[in-house]
Amino acid sequence: MKVINKIEEIKKITEDSKKNNKTVGLVPTMGCLHAGHASLIKKSVAENDLSVVSVFVNPIQFGPNEDYDKYPRTLDEDIKLCSELGADYIFAPSPQEMYPNLEKFSDLTMVAPPYKFTDMLCGKSRIGHFDGVCTVVTKLINITSPDRAYFGMKDIQQLFIIKKMVKDLNFSVEIVPCPLVREETGLALSSRNKYLTPEAKTNALTISKALFAIKSGVERGITDTKLLFDTAMTVLAPSIELDYLEFVRAEDFEPVESITEPTIAAIAAKVGNVRLIDNIIIGE
Ligand code: AMP
Repeated sequence: MKVINKIEEIKKITEDSKKNNKTVGLVPTMGCLHAGHASLIKKSVAENDLSVVSVFVNPIQFGPNEDYDKYPRTLDEDIKLCSELGADYIFAPSPQEMYPNLEKFSDLTMVAPPYKFTDMLCGKSRIGHFDGVCTVVTKLINITSPDRAYFGMKDIQQLFIIKKMVKDLNFSVEIVPCPLVREETGLALSSRNKYLTPEAKTNALTISKALFAIKSGVERGITDTKLLFDTAMTVLAPSIELDYLEFVRAEDFEPVESITEPTIAAIAAKVGNVRLIDNIIIGE
């Protein structure tokens, strides 16, 4: 496995592979890889001749008061994991390599998903976040020309928006959704879990417990999302600051009041100053 820092170099490698009729899989990540990322990488390795894992903490998807500077960076460990999993390349560009004019941010061409889907869930409190995500994913896809790109259902709004972008803008790539991976405790794996103190982690566990309570409520026949919301609130640790808990139709992300078809219960909450997200599919 090789680490490539330059756009032109990885571009040539993937273009040459395609010329030789080899399929390319892309797994975009921000590094600090864990078993959630590993599940995407394994799938890419199994389904493609060549797999590229990008490791890039994308500055333009972070707001001014977010954790860009202190986001965990563990490239040496990431390299070890990717090579154990059989990935062929890590593409780890510098911010300057990806955005030579970053200081003149307003000059950058951005890919903007529809306001309707960004003015909800995570997009509501993370203004501009999904523009930053769509822009970097577009660049990564243009750079590596993948046949398939792998995204986790942990970031369910991101997955929905990227699938829509690829369809609306006629990208020639298949977006492959991958199931959310949890710890045995139920906590959704996240690079940000590294920030949690033991006490914060105990509180964080109530986020997935709240979602599981919703799911069992639906299985017992409760369909009213207000009742399901209240059930979840009885489980969530009082010290947790809820950003949102919303119910949206899985198919089109329309808000729902009653569970009659596959629905996503999505939550974001701050445990201390660590913002975590999670979701569960109900009503299947
Ligand atoms: P990130 O490094 O957080 O930007 O994540 C890179 C990719 O890994 C995204 O497609 C995420 O949805 C996916 N991912 C992160 N955590 C998990 C998880 N616990 N289960 C499944 N996919 C995940």
